[in-house]
Amino acid sequence: MIWESNVSLAPYNTFGIDAKAERLVHLETEADVAHYAQHPEGLRQQRLLLGGGSNMLLCADVPGTTARIAWKGRKVIRETEDHVWLEVAAGESWHETVRFCVGKDWSGLQNLSLIPGLVGAAPVQNIGAYGVELSDSFDCLRFFDWENGEIHPMDAVDCGFSYRDSVFKNRLKGQGVILSVTFRLTKRNHTFQTTYGAIQEELSSRGLQPSVESISDAVMAIRQSKLPDPKVLGNSGSFFKNPALPSAQVSALAQRYPEIPQYPQANGTVKVAAGWLIEQAGWKGKRVGNVGMHARQALVLVNYGGASGPEIWAYAQHVQASVSELFGIDLEAEVNLIG
Ligand SMILES: Cc1cc2nc3c(=O)[nH]c(=O)nc-3n(C[C@H](O)[C@H](O)[C@H](O)COP(=O)(O)OP(=O)(O)OC[C@H]3O[C@@H](n4cnc5c(N)ncnc54)[C@H](O)[C@@H]3O)c2cc1C
Repeated sequence: MIWESNVSLAPYNTFGIDAKAERLVHLETEADVAHYAQHPEGLRQQRLLLGGGSNMLLCADVPGTTARIAWKGRKVIRETEDHVWLEVAAGESWHETVRFCVGKDWSGLQNLSLIPGLVGAAPVQNIGAYGVELSDSFDCLRFFDWENGEIHPMDAVDCGFSYRDSVFKNRLKGQGVILSVTFRLTKRNHTFQTTYGAIQEELSSRGLQPSVESISDAVMAIRQSKLPDPKVLGNSGSFFKNPALPSAQVSALAQRYPEIPQYPQANGTVKVAAGWLIEQAGWKGKRVGNVGMHARQALVLVNYGGASGPEIWAYAQHVQASVSELFGIDLEAEVNLIG
């Protein structure tokens, strides 16, 4: 457990916001978590639990203690002829874990290549991309309960996964920390999801058949061509969720806007593309000061350099107001607001 005082969090969030942490503690082993929970300047003073900082907007300096998840490790805990169960520590890089599985030819996570952040945060919003969600390969996780220091095993039902949501954003928000996540991956007779985005086109253009590796490579190439690299332009990926609306509302909208992209959901709602709504409202590529919606991807809000959290949030609220005025739809932020 390493303690620092008055530290800039700029290297620890992908928006690159220079908010200060009064105290930053790096939790480097699972055992550190229990010690931290008892430490006088630990949990009792905690204001922020930090993973890779790729899904948060720091709107102010953080008083008290910021705890950074940094413990690592991966191990196979069970194996059959067809499947392998891989337990991964919360502090492991998500993308490196995906590539580790790709290297073993284990399928399940390949469509989720190149998503920033750490493994422990992935269940929090049930990360998803290219027709696949974390929950599709999830087996269980271990959750350290801040209140009593007990470690609870949780399966998918306990986690309450849905679109960019889970129990960790709701009932268990701030109640504990995910220590590790176990994935159930497939060793043979793979089935692949290639119908979303441009995966199929990317494979065809390379003359490749779908495989764990070719899909991961294709997803990486597509993402690199479309999404700004946070190391170059600060961002947190999709800033807003795609709204899921009653089908009658979407039908009425489609009368006015026949081209509106719509995706019927199993629960009877219809998801519409937030990026399209934002583009129609005139915000795609529009820069105000140091903030703007990206020119190639209207759903990604970028920091052109030096923007503060409140500046970014003010811009986001203008986007919300425009979309609400034009379509009567309230966009919900996907990113976590801190402070
Ligand atoms: C360029 C870019 C592209 C992206 N693309 C996608 C995408 O395709 N799909 C997608 O779903 N997301 C995407 N994201 C969002 C983000 O990468 C994911 O949400 C990621 O899982 C966040 O991980 P993190 O470690 O950075 O979490 P952080 O931002 O550090 O934390 C997010 C939240 O989880 C909490 N948390 C973190 N770790 C734990 C833990 N171990 N236990 C309990 N709570 C915890 C934090 O307190 C915070 O509330 C993208 C982001 C960027 C910058």
